[in-house]
Amino acid sequence: MATENNKILTGWGRTNPGMSSKLELPISSDWPAMLKALSSSGVVARGLGRSYNDAAQLSGGTFIDTTTWNQVQHFDPSSGILQVEAGASLDQIMREFADLGFFVPVTPGTRHVTIGGAIACDVHGKNHHKDGSFTDHVLSLDLATPSGILTLTREENPQLFNATCGGMGLTGVILGATIRLLRIESVFMKVDTHRTNNLDEVMDLMETEDDDYRYSVAWVDSLARGSSLGRAVLTRGDHALLSDLTGAQRKAPLEFKPKTLFSAPDIFPPGLLNSLTIKAFNELWYQKAPKKEIGAIHHAASFFHPLDVVDNWNRIYGPRGFVQYQFVVPFGHENVIRSSLELLAKNRSGSFLTVLKRFGKANNGLISFPMEGWTLALDLPVGPANLASLFDQLDEMVISAGGRIYLAKDARVSKSHLKIMYPHLEEFEQIVTSVDPTRILQSDLSRRLGI
Ligand SMILES: Cc1cc2nc3c(=O)[nH]c(=O)nc-3n(C[C@H](O)[C@H](O)[C@H](O)COP(=O)(O)OP(=O)(O)OC[C@H]3O[C@@H](n4cnc5c(N)ncnc54)[C@H](O)[C@@H]3O)c2cc1C
Repeated sequence: MATENNKILTGWGRTNPGMSSKLELPISSDWPAMLKALSSSGVVARGLGRSYNDAAQLSGGTFIDTTTWNQVQHFDPSSGILQVEAGASLDQIMREFADLGFFVPVTPGTRHVTIGGAIACDVHGKNHHKDGSFTDHVLSLDLATPSGILTLTREENPQLFNATCGGMGLTGVILGATIRLLRIESVFMKVDTHRTNNLDEVMDLMETEDDDYRYSVAWVDSLARGSSLGRAVLTRGDHALLSDLTGAQRKAPLEFKPKTLFSAPDIFPPGLLNSLTIKAFNELWYQKAPKKEIGAIHHAASFFHPLDVVDNWNRIYGPRGFVQYQFVVPFGHENVIRSSLELLAKNRSGSFLTVLKRFGKANNGLISFPMEGWTLALDLPVGPANLASLFDQLDEMVISAGGRIYLAKDARVSKSHLKIMYPHLEEFEQIVTSVDPTRILQSDLSRRLGI
C-alpha cells in the first residue's frame, strides 16, 4: 500500500511501475550529509516525469521532487544569460521570458520538462542540425554530490561536466544552471510544409534543404507500404520576424500564453490504439496536411508542442502503456530507416507518432544521445506478443550501422547492446564512481542496465 510519502511511479510511457519514497528538500540543504544519510536505499532526482521510462524512479529507494526549485536567480537581458534553479520548467521560462524577446535555445516535443531533466537527458529539438542539444547552451551548472556541491563548466571541470550533460542524473543532483536564451522578435513561426509520397522524397528534401531552416521535423506514416512506404509530412521553419506578421499577431508578437484544452481521463481500455486505429489516424493526418504550403505563420506552441494541448495524453494507450523506441544512425546508413519502417509495416506494428529528424554533430557528453545522422522515434503500444523480438531486431540493425538508442526513452535494451552503442560508457562509470563511490545515486534504469 502506498503511504503518504510512497508513490508508485512510472515514466510517460506508463510501463515498469516502481514504488519510491518522495522527499521534498529545500535547495539549500546540506547535500553531502543528506545524500549519505540515504545511502542504504539510494536516491534519484525527478523532474516532471516526462522521460518515457524508469529513469526518474527508484524502486524501494527515495526520489527527490525537484519541481519546487523554480526560482529565477538572475537574468541579463543584454546577453540573454539566465541563471535558474533546476526544477523550473521550459514552460515557465517561455512564459516568463517571451515578453522580453527570449526563447529557450532548444525545446523537446513537450515544454513540460525541467531544466534538470533537460540537462540530465541532454534533450534535443527540431534544431539539432543547427544548434546542437540543450547542454550546448548550458554555460555552467551546480551539482550536489556525496562529495560536495560543485560548480561545473566545460573549462574548469570538463570530465564531470561531460558526464553530467546527458548522464541521466547519475553523477548527482543538479541544483541550478546558467543557460543562454535565444533572442526572438516574435513567438510566431514562419513555416513551410511539404507532404511527400514516400521515404526517398522526404529524405531527399531534408538532405538538400534542411540547412536553410533552423527547425525541421518529419512525421512519418509508419503503416504505409509498397511505393508509399515512409510517406511523410515535413514541417520546417524559423522564428518569424516582426515584418512577417500581420493583424492580431503583430499587436501581441511576444505573447506566450498557451492553454491546455482538456485532460485525458484514465478510462481508455488496453488495445484501443492498434494497427487499425493507427492506420486510420495516419491516413487522416496525412490527408489533412497541405501538399505544399510556404511561409504559413503558426504560434510557437502549436509548432513545437502540439501534444501539450491535451494533458495526460499518454492515457489513451490504456493501462499497459507504450514504449518509445528512438534511435540514431550515422549518415550513409539511410537503409536502416527504410528497413525499420519495412519491419513495422510487415509486422503490422503501427507507431502512433513516428518522427524523423537529422542530427548535427555530437557534443562531448559521454553518454549523450545525439550523434550526426538520422534519428527516428517510434511510439509502440505494449501488448502485441512480437514486440520484444521486434525491438531486438531493431537493436541489431542500429548496432550494425554504428548507431544508438536514446536512454530517456528506452525500457528494455540489454547492457551488452548498450556498451556497444555507447563506447564511452566505461569512462562515464569511472567518473560517477569518483564522485559517488558507494553509488548512492541510482535509478531503476541504472539498476536494470547495471550502469
Ligand atoms: C511528449 C514528449 C515529447 C518529447 N520529445 C522529446 C524530444 O523531442 N527530444 C528529447 O530529447 N526528448 C523528448 N522527450 C523526453 C523529455 O524531453 C526528457 O525525458 C526530459 O528529460 C524530461 O524532463 P523531466 O523534467 O520530466 O525529467 P524526468 O523525466 O523527471 O527525469 C529524466 C531524467 O533526468 C534526471 N533528472 C531530472 N531532474 C534532475 C536533477 N535536478 N538533477 C539530476 N538529474 C535530474 C532524472 O533522474 C532522470 O534520469 C519528450 C517527452 C515527451 C513526454
